[in-house]
Amino acid sequence: MTDTIETFEFQTEARQLLDLMIHSVYSNKDIFLRELISNSSDALDKRRFEALKQPELLAENTELRIFIEVDSEARSLSILDNGIGMTRDEVKDLIGTIAKSGTKEFINKIKQSKEEGVNADLIGQFGVGFYSSFIAADRVSLVTRKAGEETATRWESAGDGTYTLEEAERDEVGTTVTLHLKETDTEDGMNDYTQEWQIRQVVKQYSDFVAYPIQMDIERTEVERDEEGKPVEGAEEKKVITTETLNSMKALWLRDKKDVTDDEYNEFYKHISHDWTDPASRIQAKIEGTLEYTLLLYIPGKAPMDLYYQGVRHGVHLYVKRVFIMDDCKELLPEYLRFVKGVVDSEDLSLNISREILQQNRQIERMRKGIVSKVLGFLKTQFKKDKDEFIAFWNEFGRVFKEGLFQDQENQEALLELCLFNSTNSNEEFTTLAEYIERMKEGQDAIYYMTGESRAKIEESPHMESFLEKGYEVLILADPVDEIWCQQVFKHKDFDFKSISKGAVELGSEEEKKEAEEKRAEKEKEYKSLLECLKGKLEENVKEVRLSNRLTSSAACLVTDGADLTPQLEQMMKQMGQDVPTSKRILELNPNHAILTKLHDLFEANAEDAQLDDYAQLIYGQAVLAEGGDLPNPGKFSKLVADLMVKAG
Ligand code: ADP
Repeated sequence: MTDTIETFEFQTEARQLLDLMIHSVYSNKDIFLRELISNSSDALDKRRFEALKQPELLAENTELRIFIEVDSEARSLSILDNGIGMTRDEVKDLIGTIAKSGTKEFINKIKQSKEEGVNADLIGQFGVGFYSSFIAADRVSLVTRKAGEETATRWESAGDGTYTLEEAERDEVGTTVTLHLKETDTEDGMNDYTQEWQIRQVVKQYSDFVAYPIQMDIERTEVERDEEGKPVEGAEEKKVITTETLNSMKALWLRDKKDVTDDEYNEFYKHISHDWTDPASRIQAKIEGTLEYTLLLYIPGKAPMDLYYQGVRHGVHLYVKRVFIMDDCKELLPEYLRFVKGVVDSEDLSLNISREILQQNRQIERMRKGIVSKVLGFLKTQFKKDKDEFIAFWNEFGRVFKEGLFQDQENQEALLELCLFNSTNSNEEFTTLAEYIERMKEGQDAIYYMTGESRAKIEESPHMESFLEKGYEVLILADPVDEIWCQQVFKHKDFDFKSISKGAVELGSEEEKKEAEEKRAEKEKEYKSLLECLKGKLEENVKEVRLSNRLTSSAACLVTDGADLTPQLEQMMKQMGQDVPTSKRILELNPNHAILTKLHDLFEANAEDAQLDDYAQLIYGQAVLAEGGDLPNPGKFSKLVADLMVKAG
């Protein structure tokens, strides 16, 4: 064994996060113990699971457990486990760095909100786990030995930007985390974690359901007693140490609902989700029949920071007959429900099930369907019972939920019924499709929508004009995911989804439509040569120039051809590294606008007039700007506008 101590610097983000931990004010300091016990419990789960494949990693008589040790004189508290342990490299990777995606954004967000005086909740959303030790300690050490290895590693830090690593010894496989506690900051000893009662209370409150015994040596003084139980006269007091298990270890999901309090359910949620805040709701069910399983699922109150990052952990833990098999069981939940956390305990699967087998397992497939239908059923009930709660859910998870519209064809209709949308009818309030359909105008045969970058841009867009004027409601779809599902969802009930910025649009009764179309066709004939001339001048940008009844006050707008990608979708795909060609759009002109008459006059007088070039560019530029797009050549456009102003003056 070498006795060199190496010093390392924390990765920048880890250091910033530590700083935040140390300097944040916590109303509830106890949670650090819960975090460390959760880590130990995870490590024990892992050792048990690995031992299914490599039995030598766990001798038969080893009792997996967590042990809490207190040294009142040294004011230290240790949490020991005989879990999977870590190698030196793992300690460096897992403890010295923060691999979680979104850390930077998270730190920025937390810094901002710190100025406004909130922080613990935010830290909770991110789940800082091990680092929370620094809430209670000013120095933390960790000694760990990985299952299957002989040597151990010792890590130590005072949370000051550096940590040390050295080789160490540990008799047994597992991890010991030792906290050198800060001076208690309350005189009544409320946060004195060397007190037995304090530890008991925290364990009971936060970690009672942990599936492994959490033990502690309890010292008592005893005197010898006679047969009647009376102290023997003159006998000396003896110190007796007994090892006590502090938690009940009862699997919460198997206990009778009426025997479990909301607080206990909430603590269990925090244990498995590593979230520090209470969940918004809970879904419990026992499925019986050919396939038997119990589920206890939760919907978090807040979307975690990393919900949109690749590789985000799915929250469902799989148990088989009460034995933990794995966390992050992706096979049990579709991507769009990745925010759901909880436990699924199967009676039928084999204990030896591996991730590879899971992927093609028919039972898993059926369980997944059952779980999805439970979650959707729950949401549907909540939607009916408590709209405000559902809206709160939607604000957090609606964007993810909408991914289901293209991921889960089978449930598409059910999902659509649960979706909430902004629309031209509602200002702040959302609308459902059922409500939209209820308000449809006589003869309306489509659900109209418009996608775009933001609500404001969509609302201001010229495409809206005739819809607003004629009183047709339009769904406002401003989330990036809307661009995607709209490509794949075509119908709801008897109605087609129709984008108001795609293809041709006519509104009104059959008769009105026919009449409008005839009028338009007539005008188009009249303006045919002008439209062709403009198309020639804008060839680089548009594929067609035509007249439309879509506009009432604007002169022009751009529409996407039926099968083409919208500019937003095109941009999204490019950002994802896909090679998509830029498709040209269609320039639609308002036949009733004075500009058109003016252009027509100019064109009739002299088809070669150079002003026509400028006007073509100006009209196109205007149409781009009106929908909040980027001009291909802003410098040139503004010069043309300036020239025009001079002329007009
Ligand atoms: P989280 O638990 O949210 O992943 P932590 O910072 O608490 O974040 O821990 C980081 C990682 O360090 C864990 O994912 C785990 O791999 C490892 N780790 C922490 N504590 C232990 C332990 N007691 N035994 C084994 N590994 C641990």
